[in-house]
Amino acid sequence: MNDPTVLGSEKGVLLVVSGASGTGKGTVNRLLLKMYPEEFAFSVSATTRKPRKNEKDGDDYAFITREEFERKIRDGEMLEYTEYCGNYYGTPKSELDKLDGGKNLILELEIDGARNVKAIIPDAVAVFILPPDYETLKARLEGRGTNAPEDIQRRLDRALEEFRQTGCYDYFVVNPDGGAEKAAEAVRSIVNAHKHSSSRGREKFGLLFPEKK
Ligand code: 5GP
Repeated sequence: MNDPTVLGSEKGVLLVVSGASGTGKGTVNRLLLKMYPEEFAFSVSATTRKPRKNEKDGDDYAFITREEFERKIRDGEMLEYTEYCGNYYGTPKSELDKLDGGKNLILELEIDGARNVKAIIPDAVAVFILPPDYETLKARLEGRGTNAPEDIQRRLDRALEEFRQTGCYDYFVVNPDGGAEKAAEAVRSIVNAHKHSSSRGREKFGLLFPEKK
């Protein structure tokens, strides 16, 4: 069997998208899937956290027990995984099959996951979504109406802390207020440019002229 972590130039791009709470990374990803269903697929992670209202098992996440998750780790079924706020989250290796048809695969991960995927799959592209400014991020978190004031401050502190650890990201994209389409277009441009990256081009060159390698 082919090694699923070796992405040939004919495969879609493995796109890791991260961003602090309130930056709108989920909105940007949903837009990409909606606007360009022929180009993008979504990697459904496994998690041990409980489903939220409106979340569907198999669409948003595969919601599984701790025992099942730990069995998957033991059996080598996870590409990467992490423990975040007391729950496991991880990408099953089988999700990479979605790259085979040439579609780009979106992995919505926190920072450790992004770092791990970049280490395992150097061809992956990691994008960090930013809010336009601090005040907007604060207003977005307050506007959700679901967070207590001390929780909002904690999330803001965490956003700053996360930003300091973003060395593994290839690109930063600002998600402007009311302009998530613009951010989605920027991410799509990045992915399309990556299809012509020098590493992919060199591989293609080798395929075109195998005897001259
Ligand atoms: P939430 O509970 O809000 O859905 O997700 C919490 C965090 O876990 C988010 O930053 C999300 O991007 C991240 N996450 C979701 N799935 C995975 C995964 O498979 N692996 C890693 N490393 N992080 C994930």
